[in-house]
Amino acid sequence: MNYHRPTSFEQASAIAAAAAGVTRFLAGGTDVLVQLRAGTVTPDDLIDLKHIPGVKEIAPTAEGGWRIGVAVSGADLGRHAGLCADWPGVVEGMRLVGSIQVQGRATLAGNLCNGSAAADSVPGLVAAAARVSVVGPQGRRELAVEDIPAGPGRTVLAPGELIAAIILPARGARGGDAYLRFIPRTEMDIAVVGAAVNLRLDGDRVAEARVALGAVAPRILLVPEAADAILGTPLDASALSALAAAATAAARPITDRRGTAEFRREVVGVLVCRAARIAYQRAGGAAT
Ligand SMILES: Cc1cc2nc3c(=O)[nH]c(=O)nc-3n(C[C@H](O)[C@H](O)[C@H](O)COP(=O)(O)OP(=O)(O)OC[C@H]3O[C@@H](n4cnc5c(N)ncnc54)[C@H](O)[C@@H]3O)c2cc1C
Repeated sequence: MNYHRPTSFEQASAIAAAAAGVTRFLAGGTDVLVQLRAGTVTPDDLIDLKHIPGVKEIAPTAEGGWRIGVAVSGADLGRHAGLCADWPGVVEGMRLVGSIQVQGRATLAGNLCNGSAAADSVPGLVAAAARVSVVGPQGRRELAVEDIPAGPGRTVLAPGELIAAIILPARGARGGDAYLRFIPRTEMDIAVVGAAVNLRLDGDRVAEARVALGAVAPRILLVPEAADAILGTPLDASALSALAAAATAAARPITDRRGTAEFRREVVGVLVCRAARIAYQRAGGAAT
């Protein structure tokens, strides 16, 4: 195995583009090293991103949002007061990843690029309308987070492409977000269902919303019909009931040892309403 330590994204991209065999980028390594030790994926080329300047930084953007480096750990996210105040739903998604030890290494970009439909940080990012800056052999491009997963274990990134940063938009006034997951244990398990809601209020009414669901389809879903169900409402009982119905209708879950498809359809309706209530209160709305 060839271990590489590039000092720029362009160099990392060039190494990946020239590599012939199995290539992996090394961020926190909490997926890559587990797969390597288990013998499920043995990279021919392992490209360590942690020595590229700026990858461990969280910086404000000119637009009032945040630019998160690709080696920022979950623990660092949770310690960043500005990010926690603006995007608590994104931070709480990452806080659910594994244990304290895992969060000391695990990154948002790694969680996204591992391609799991149950990835805990991704629904919050999708609901937040986060984008990623991608560097590749053809230069730079920006993509919405929801466009990155291509299916279980796969992304749309072309050979030689990698994520250089995650960009969260400005929070703005009267906004709130939340992420919840269901697992059969209290921690250290994979989401059976995940639900993230991000919304903005005008008075007591929902003026903007985005809803994302995890672990109920081959990839994380952005569900505009679920957002539409609460738009213009004060998140009252009928809006919540329409939200639950829209989330359940969008879900295309499988049955596995963690839960049946029927169970997941039921739980996604419950969780999405709970997440919406939390987001609504975080946006300054009264408890519903
Ligand atoms: C004990 C344990 C418990 C866990 N629990 C959870 C959990 O509860 N919820 C959950 O969602 N996950 C969980 N995970 C999985 C893992 O911790 C997360 O997916 C984590 O966020 C991966 O981030 P990383 O930085 O460690 O990724 P890495 O292992 O470094 O990389 C993961 C993948 O992403 C690619 N990659 C990394 N960075 C980039 C980049 N910048 N551009 C392009 N591709 C890139 C790599 O090539 C690799 O394919 C757990 C893992 C362990 C070991």
